[in-house]
Amino acid sequence: MDENRPPYRPLTDTPVDQTDDRRRGVVRVEPGQPFEHFCPECGRWDTFGFGGDLLKGIPGVWYCSEHRETGERRWKTGGLVASAG
Ligand SMILES: [Zn+2]
Repeated sequence: MDENRPPYRPLTDTPVDQTDDRRRGVVRVEPGQPFEHFCPECGRWDTFGFGGDLLKGIPGVWYCSEHRETGERRWKTGGLVASAG
């Protein structure tokens, strides 16, 4: 839609469904770039977020389906899980 939008710059050339140590735990929020979040355990694209609130600009921590339980345990142990609703 916006032709002035800067081109997408992937963090690495590894496909997002593959592990990549360079991407572990990376959460990128940049104007003109997609909101990207990678699993702290493996660097894959991840879909299970903890502790984030985009309305407040808090990206949170994101885990892939494989490491989702690790994330849940970690956040619960730390008492950092935001209660939904
Ligand atoms: Zn993972």
